[in-house]
Amino acid sequence: MTQTAPITQDVLTIPRKLPDGPVNLVGLTRDALREALIAHGTPEKQAKMRVNQIWQWIYQWGVRDFHAMTNLAKAYRAQLAENFVVTIPEVVSKQVSTDGTRKYLVRIAGGHEVEVVYIPETDRGTLCISSQVGCTLTCSFCHTGTQKLVRNLTAGEIIGQVMLARDDLNEWPRPGEPVGERPRLISNIVLMGMGEPLYNFDNVRDAMKIAMDGEGISLSRRRITLSTSGVVPEIAKTAQEIGCLLAVSFHATTDAVRDALVPINKKWNIATLLDTLRDYPRLSNSERITFEYVMLKDVNDSDADARRLVQLIKGIPAKINLIPFNEWPGSPYERSDRDRIQRFADIIYKAGYASPIRTPRGEDIMAACGQLKSATERARKSRAQIEAEAGH
Ligand code: SAH
Ligand code: SF4
Repeated sequence: MTQTAPITQDVLTIPRKLPDGPVNLVGLTRDALREALIAHGTPEKQAKMRVNQIWQWIYQWGVRDFHAMTNLAKAYRAQLAENFVVTIPEVVSKQVSTDGTRKYLVRIAGGHEVEVVYIPETDRGTLCISSQVGCTLTCSFCHTGTQKLVRNLTAGEIIGQVMLARDDLNEWPRPGEPVGERPRLISNIVLMGMGEPLYNFDNVRDAMKIAMDGEGISLSRRRITLSTSGVVPEIAKTAQEIGCLLAVSFHATTDAVRDALVPINKKWNIATLLDTLRDYPRLSNSERITFEYVMLKDVNDSDADARRLVQLIKGIPAKINLIPFNEWPGSPYERSDRDRIQRFADIIYKAGYASPIRTPRGEDIMAACGQLKSATERARKSRAQIEAEAGH
């Protein structure tokens, strides 16, 4: 059945408080899980096996009720249930675009909200997840950048976004069902939602390690892309400790323009950033760096910019992802014209680099890059207005 209008579904209206007593196991590394089990009475000799079993229930089968973990003794299940919980952030509402894109508004502890976007394509399904509520950086074209950093997400809240999307897409294999039987709906993860992942490095690393763990969600490191605005000291660590693919929000070819668009450039300028990218230890043809480049009319979209870009990245295995600017209410820029973007792409392509132009997805539900949260705020405002008008 083809959909003709986006669907908004309120999944949760009454906020449920997260329990503050028992320890949440979601987001713990294998080592931390082992320690937690031992601290709550699991004999040390058994700990390794218990970690494997519990890990498999949580991350391979998506089971969160200890009583359903049937290869554990009943008494042990009860003991686990007394001390631990397996909880993930709650979906407050879900919107489905006419193009199949799904946007989830997710509530985390403290009542804060982040957004998660699922983008189905013919050969893949990409989940765009958030790493922070708000952002400390103030990129002038980004709506998240207009919001103060509220807090870092925990590792559990980061991997929890993947888990809640798997719930919604009904993607967990049934216990016992061989893994890999069905095509993956979530085949790729991109850290391109709200926040700067490299300013929340440890939690992002721990969450992505869980996503890559072969006994669980088991996504290849080549199917995870971390996007950074250019936090230079953390880039080498990303290769060493996570090993996923890297995308860099480049967006300009002179320091003057990049200073204005991506202010972190004042700290680590284009030359410093490029040096670091050249050293990225895992560089190879199959692991190109993605240069993200938002197309802003008359700001960074000239032929001269395209030629400079090609010169700058010489020697770095790269692809350039051109992102037509997604406008948001009050945004100070306009999207470059189609022809301009195409001409820019041609120059880069002729220089030997892939230069895909990103197709905006989920526009009817404001699910595009850099727009996250704005729709939510507007929706909230209008709900408040409606209530005020109704005399509540
Ligand atoms: N903080 C990280 C990741 C989140 S932003 C970073 O900056 O890379 C994900 C991507 O969306 C970045 O390339 C960002 O520059 C881009 N983006 C932000 N706002 C945008 C907008 N309004 N239109 C198009 N792309 C945008
Ligand atoms: Fe933060 Fe990235 Fe937005 Fe810049 S583009 S403000 S780093 S989320």
